[in-house]
Amino acid sequence: MEQTRRTGKARGILCGILSLILVLTLGMMPALAVETAEEPAEETVEVSVEQLKETLLAMGEELDMASRIGLSETETDNGTVALGFTPVKELLPLDEYSVLKVDGEIIGATDDRKALELELCVILAEHGMLESNTTTQFVEKIEIVEVPASGVTPMSMEEFRDILTGKTQRTVPYFIHEGDTLLSVAESFGMEAEAFQEINPDFDPDQFELGEKTELEVFSPVVTVKTIRVDTFEEEIDFDTVYEDTDRMYLGTEKIATEGENGKYEFQVEITEMNGKESARRILHSKVLKTPVIQRVLRGTQKSPVTGSYVMPFNGMMSSDYGSRWGGMHTGVDFAGPEGSPIVASDGGQVVYADWKGTYGNCVIIDHGNGLETYYAHCSSLNVTEGQIVKQGEVIAYVGSTGRSTGPHCHYEVRVDGKPVNPWPYLP
Ligand SMILES: [Zn+2]
Repeated sequence: MEQTRRTGKARGILCGILSLILVLTLGMMPALAVETAEEPAEETVEVSVEQLKETLLAMGEELDMASRIGLSETETDNGTVALGFTPVKELLPLDEYSVLKVDGEIIGATDDRKALELELCVILAEHGMLESNTTTQFVEKIEIVEVPASGVTPMSMEEFRDILTGKTQRTVPYFIHEGDTLLSVAESFGMEAEAFQEINPDFDPDQFELGEKTELEVFSPVVTVKTIRVDTFEEEIDFDTVYEDTDRMYLGTEKIATEGENGKYEFQVEITEMNGKESARRILHSKVLKTPVIQRVLRGTQKSPVTGSYVMPFNGMMSSDYGSRWGGMHTGVDFAGPEGSPIVASDGGQVVYADWKGTYGNCVIIDHGNGLETYYAHCSSLNVTEGQIVKQGEVIAYVGSTGRSTGPHCHYEVRVDGKPVNPWPYLP
């Protein structure tokens, strides 16, 4: 159904094209103009002898026909020759047919040459002749020659079409090749092995000598349409992934630092098809439309420094204990001491905070896993940065009096799942 509609459309467009070609031809060749003239039996066109010669030469093989169109000459006043034409149709013998030859082999005859030409164009059109990115041509040499009609039976356009496109069974000569099998021979005619065997029941390639000639029955197109199509495709380029080791992450953990993005490239391909079957493909050019973004993945190298036991963060004097204080709650233990004294991590872990934190002043928070965190507040300065992995006893900050503080001390806090708990059970 789809095919029929497409053919119908192609036929319409082709008629237009053929008419156009005809008009152009007529414009150039006055001698042919009379061929399609319906009414006038005689028409006089004034041309010089030189023009006439050129016109007839340009017509090439149709020169012969031109000689039969009844020229009559009369001298005019200005020295040119006035030529009277008689329409070709009236002079052409009616007992002449147009014969289609494919690679010299006669396919059939018709009395409607234009319809046959149109039929051939339709076959090309079905293979994309009218598409702007496609060129089509017959592989075989196609000729239409005029022959006397005696003894010739004309064919309908449907018959032509069926033979040309392989819908009609025909007998072809075949020379046995090396390695021929029933399947390979069937395929060489574009046929299924089963259908081929059905109409060649006795054919067995093994029964022949190499190069021996036989005859086969086939449903195979008489003409081969070579189609060259240029298509443009887009294809994704997968992004690459690079891994970067970092000691700021635990061994066995990974984190995407930069999300990868696929790129895109465009390539122009020339596809050659024979009767619709791809036979060759080559890339004409390609260009990158978008460069892929490399995915960066951080991979931890640091063994977990968590010991599960705790050391004193700073051996100062306890100036304020954990618990109720001034009607409120003191969430940690304060150890007072000289400004600038080193504060150490009471257990190994990862620094998850190292910055100013409101009333805590300069503060370091270390994550020890299992929901356990330690806080070191009011520091004068910090010795670590967020993300850093520290060992137990490593200097992380210095004693100060930043935030809400009345003198240099280290406010030490232990939190379980975010809630402050009494640090003493953890400390030695
Ligand atoms: Zn405190």
